[in-house]
Amino acid sequence: MTGEQFLMLPGPTPLPNRIIRAMSRPLINHRGPEFKKILLEVTEGVKEICQTKHHVLIYPSSGTGGLEAAVVNFISPGDKVLAVSIGVFGDRFASIAKKFGAEVEKMDFTWGEAADPEIIGERLKKDINREIKAVLITHNETSTGVFNDLKAIKEAAGNHPALFLVDAVSGLAAVDLKMDEWGIDVVVSGSQKAFMVPPGLCFLAFNDRAYEAYKKSKSPKFYWDIDLGLEYLAKGQNPVTPPISIYYGMQEALKMMKEEGLENILKRHKNYRDMVRESIKSVGLKLLANDENASTAGTSVIAPEGIGANKIRQYMLEKFNIVLAGGQQSLNDVIFRIGHLGYVRELDLLAVIAALEITLKELGFAFDMGAGVRKAQEFLLNNYKG
Ligand SMILES: *Cc1c(COP(=O)(O)O)cnc(C)c1O
Repeated sequence: MTGEQFLMLPGPTPLPNRIIRAMSRPLINHRGPEFKKILLEVTEGVKEICQTKHHVLIYPSSGTGGLEAAVVNFISPGDKVLAVSIGVFGDRFASIAKKFGAEVEKMDFTWGEAADPEIIGERLKKDINREIKAVLITHNETSTGVFNDLKAIKEAAGNHPALFLVDAVSGLAAVDLKMDEWGIDVVVSGSQKAFMVPPGLCFLAFNDRAYEAYKKSKSPKFYWDIDLGLEYLAKGQNPVTPPISIYYGMQEALKMMKEEGLENILKRHKNYRDMVRESIKSVGLKLLANDENASTAGTSVIAPEGIGANKIRQYMLEKFNIVLAGGQQSLNDVIFRIGHLGYVRELDLLAVIAALEITLKELGFAFDMGAGVRKAQEFLLNNYKG
């Protein structure tokens, strides 16, 4: 019996029963007092997770909508923009800016590696006329399983006035991000990754520096217009009809996150990463990311030569009902990705590693079966001892 599906993707993620139950409540008037209370509570909660005291607007949208919202509100056509990319989502942010007429200078790093703070700092230092208006960068690159050290990058940027726009769709609440303390101007995230909620809402956090850029911005916008959003938020409403059920889910998710505490959540994700990586290494497989910048949200594993990543994924699905993510674009069939963000337990990962070992054995990979599970068990045992 394969039972319920193990959704081990880096988004969407499994849903806790508490959240499912919260979302099954009857709908309410989205312009009434009950919804107002929920909207304000969820907005405050997202601010806490972003570690900001500034503005947060929530839109009915997937994460990509939030990236577009950031571009149309804070960048004008003709603005020079430095788009740092370490993978698929960095490329996407750059493409959106380009579509809306920004003069995009792309800075690419090898897939599987993090952006080098020094190289970014050097580029900004060379911009003596301060022509670069914004830096677009990914917090956690889901396609490769690498996070960027935003704190170091922001420090390397020195006093350059460019706005920092960050795609934290998969990173927020899985990888540390101190928006105000690090001086990040705009943070974009969404409901379906570390928040343990279905897709449907994106979050746009921005500070006053970003708001000043908005005031001067010439990109056309209606749905994403932040002044419209702020005007309605002041009344406890959304400009449009929001997905009320997803708000119920967010309200419950934020309660759960408060109970656990952000520090503990981040620590838990770090442990998942270390446990999975150590196990995978013990099995004899290679990892795409190096230890230093390996994502705490998901792990990219390089499939053994001769056995494609997709064959492994297919076997895992058919035999165990475990869903792993594939590689995107040039990484298709080269890597598979184990998501371990949001509502994931140690027990889930133990099961995934055990199933993966059986899969590898069956597909003809030569290794010491049990080595991965043993490593995971040792990791947990050591961890429990503190
Ligand atoms: C998932 C993700 C997105 C966008 O997601 P959609 O919700 O599919 O639009 C953007 N950036 C990153 C880093 C992501 O992981």
